[in-house]
Amino acid sequence: MTTASQNITPDHVADYYDRLTDVFGEAADGNLHFGYWPHPHDGSPLGAAADRLTDHLIGKLGDVAGRRVLDVGCGSGKPAVRLALSARAEVVGVTVSPVQVERATALAEREDVADRVRFVCADAMTLPFPDASFDAVWALECMFHMPSPAQVLGEISRVLRPGGRLAVMDVVQREPVTTLDRDAVERGHSMFAVPAHIELAEYPRLILGAGLRLEEMADLGDEIIRPSTEALGRAAAANPAAFAAAFGVDTERFETLMAEWVRITAALHLGYVVLTAKRPA
Ligand code: SAH
Repeated sequence: MTTASQNITPDHVADYYDRLTDVFGEAADGNLHFGYWPHPHDGSPLGAAADRLTDHLIGKLGDVAGRRVLDVGCGSGKPAVRLALSARAEVVGVTVSPVQVERATALAEREDVADRVRFVCADAMTLPFPDASFDAVWALECMFHMPSPAQVLGEISRVLRPGGRLAVMDVVQREPVTTLDRDAVERGHSMFAVPAHIELAEYPRLILGAGLRLEEMADLGDEIIRPSTEALGRAAAANPAAFAAAFGVDTERFETLMAEWVRITAALHLGYVVLTAKRPA
């Protein structure tokens, strides 16, 4: 069971990222995902720790040199470009945000990989690609935005070639929420355009249900969630006007929301799943 289900649709998510991509990107050096601190207090800033998390997932994807990789929920393209550069893969990224397609396309051009990295505006619930058209798929911190994760995993399985690998990182709930103030949770979720977080224990069943075979799964929450939320909190506190404007509220309201968010995140017992699965050959 998940915490809350609300009417957050891909259109809401698109609007959210059209507004927030630049402020979040500035805080994490172009990434729109959390950072990874396997050695606590090593002092690395959010951007470097976020790149480290991308590299962790690149390691999990295996050898994709010259292969076609789908990046589901590609953000502003930083992870896709990093994958193309370090693993020499060909990457197609999809996002629901037209602003992100622009940012990501410009980044690929700047980094001189536009010949093998491209971005399209599309909904992962109905991927606009033929069956078995990708050698690998990755989905970095986007599943919690999906109204139906099962449908998205079904689509991923469909476009993945037999024997191809999926790598996922996602913010999850470690346990069912039973005692929390559900209104506060709903406010938190709607602030961040989250229909619901998947429960950690539910992931293997979802993967299996999509016709995929789970290879490995780990919860890295302790090295990711708290230091990342603290780093993001510091970024927001350093530039409250820009964050408030992007969230569409005044600064005072934003500060109230942030305080509430810190409380909710602590109470939600969030974990961070990193998993790989294969489409059986
Ligand atoms: N993977 C990127 C961005 C993570 S932010 C990174 O790690 O930096 C979440 C991303 O998921 C955004 O790009 C958002 O547009 C995308 N997303 C959310 N819902 C989506 C949907 N239904 N279809 C396609 N992309 C979606």
